[in-house]
Amino acid sequence: MNKPLTWSSLFLAKKVLLVLPLLSGCVFLPVESQDVPCPDPAVEAAISGYREAVGVIHVHSVYSDGTGTVEQIAAIAEQQGLDFLILTDHNTLRAKQEGKEGFHGKTLLLVGSEISSEGHYLAFRIKEDVPQGKKFQPTSDAVTAGGGLGFIAHPLWHKKRWEHWGLHGFTGMEIYNAAQDATEENSVSLILWTLLTGSDVSASRWLDRPDRTLELWDRYLADRGPVVGIGGADAHGLKRVGLRLGPYETLFKLVRNHLLISGELTEAAVYDALGKGRLFVAHDILADARGFRFTAVKEDKVLGTMGEKVRWEPGLRLRANLPGPGEMTLFLDGRPVEKRRGREAAFDVKGKGIYRLEVTRKGLPWIYTNPIYVTE
Ligand SMILES: [Zn+2]
Ligand SMILES: [Zn+2]
Repeated sequence: MNKPLTWSSLFLAKKVLLVLPLLSGCVFLPVESQDVPCPDPAVEAAISGYREAVGVIHVHSVYSDGTGTVEQIAAIAEQQGLDFLILTDHNTLRAKQEGKEGFHGKTLLLVGSEISSEGHYLAFRIKEDVPQGKKFQPTSDAVTAGGGLGFIAHPLWHKKRWEHWGLHGFTGMEIYNAAQDATEENSVSLILWTLLTGSDVSASRWLDRPDRTLELWDRYLADRGPVVGIGGADAHGLKRVGLRLGPYETLFKLVRNHLLISGELTEAAVYDALGKGRLFVAHDILADARGFRFTAVKEDKVLGTMGEKVRWEPGLRLRANLPGPGEMTLFLDGRPVEKRRGREAAFDVKGKGIYRLEVTRKGLPWIYTNPIYVTE
């Protein structure tokens, strides 16, 4: 196992990079920046307006087909400094019924469920089990009737593909599912990774841009307005013939959801941000994405952020602030319209539309924002 050597040296390098700007103020920052002066009061305001809560969504425990107990899973989450984790065992809220919801150390553990319908459907903020094996619409209705949030899981998974695109009443969809990425598209890498190294660096080789899923998302956004995009770890802690395939520890770093919450870290605050799409999805295994912001601004005033509607006016711009250098692509109504490199950028907004940003790092996908909806 070469894990300690590889990862610790990378970690050290990252630490040095993080500390340098702190020591130097802005001097070292704008090396790769485009056209944004620093410091930026607008961005400061945006950062202070919300608190960032980083967490993992879509996790299975021994209460369905996972191998970890709720306590073991919560301990890994806390060890990794996650603010929250949403457990989603298949067709059961048993962890909730047994009183395991709540803070485990500093990590808020919430319990939803992955319901077997025509496809798999993630339900959050539900109080009772939703019957499995029903058609999509009654399933979705049962989730929303009690004030729940529903997300289509791995929409293009070959075994349970969502074919019924006339669906209504769901909150959002997984735009990335780590288990699908690892097992369907990169099964050879997964096996090699398990046998040879097990390091985070080699696990990041799994990362692919889910082109077809993103295409679907863009189509949904165009057809019906806000549809929240989330990243699912779909972690099971699988063990096969003594091998650990896709352990919780790795998948919890592979894809995380960075929520912008109002006030304290509570169940209500997490579900509020999740329901509104005030979040971005990141592969933190490449580089910690905490601190990233995508906001609509006019001069120094922040008018909105991801998941929010902003009225168009002359001088409106979209700003991206990255915690480290990356390659940014701005999408307007599903089409890439502008590319920038660096750790800051500002894009002029010429009219209404659905604007979202994707960021890559050294060619690998890193960050996907939820859209800012610019209206007339
Ligand atoms: Zn599933
Ligand atoms: Zn699952």
